[in-house]
Amino acid sequence: MTDSLQDIKTLAQWVEESRRIVFFGGAGVSTESGIPDFRSEDGLYRQRFSRSPEEMLSREFFDACPEEFFDFYRAKMVAPNAKPNRAHEVLAAWEAQGRLSAVITQNIDGLHQMAGSQNVLELHGSVHRNRCMTCGKEWPLEWVLQSQGVPRCTCGGIVKPEVVLYGESLDSSVLFQSVQALEQSDLLIVGGTSLVVYPAAGLLQYYRGRRMVLINRSETSADRDADLCFRGKIGEVLAKTEMERQQLHVSS
Ligand code: NAD
Repeated sequence: MTDSLQDIKTLAQWVEESRRIVFFGGAGVSTESGIPDFRSEDGLYRQRFSRSPEEMLSREFFDACPEEFFDFYRAKMVAPNAKPNRAHEVLAAWEAQGRLSAVITQNIDGLHQMAGSQNVLELHGSVHRNRCMTCGKEWPLEWVLQSQGVPRCTCGGIVKPEVVLYGESLDSSVLFQSVQALEQSDLLIVGGTSLVVYPAAGLLQYYRGRRMVLINRSETSADRDADLCFRGKIGEVLAKTEMERQQLHVSS
């Protein structure tokens, strides 16, 4: 495990040499934007609710108690005023520079796209897509937030956010694209994820490249497989790395 300047320099050199970086991330990427994750000290799982977040975010609960689901969803799962942080910005810059081929995220907040990332594979969907379960009409997030109780389409159907609830399957095309991106990647950076949510975490097995980097505030099961393991804030680590990468040009 490391945080030294030498390791930041090493990562900067690897980024400089790479053309198909894949970043695989989770809720920890957005905590520096003010969105709580699930498993940190101040995460959602440490807060007290009448039922567990897993239960309230399950498809079974959505079908049985939609009013309660939407109360929880609007209050805890959507952060309409959040803005991208330095982690999102650096990843978007690397894609624009032709170094990064895909961001694979478990997040549903849309902050990677807001930062300018183009190829974002959203394993668990997005709060920004909402569709009537009866007629398929799409509705914007703002409309869902302004609606009262269970959001109803003009046809009377329930409008469901296109986020993957516990008990639902992941989109097979997103999974396929994620596997492809990982198989073709020359540098894998994993960050801001506890790696305990499956099948998402299992995707890492498809990476075939030489170098794997892990950036997480707390320990994960993949730390021992990492060639570099940073135990810090991802926004800070990536921002320092990008500064060092730019220095490589100044000094060469
Ligand atoms: P998690 O809460 O299980 O784990 C987050 C991890 O990130 C923790 O290990 C924590 O130590 C680390 N972390 C927190 N802040 C960090 C930072 N600034 N820098 C580095 N590491 C940091 O989240 P997960 O692994 O993504 O899995 C849980 C589920 O949470 C996902 O399915 C996701 O859909 C959902 N979720 C998403 C959001 C979002 O969209 N922003 C928010 C909450 C939960």
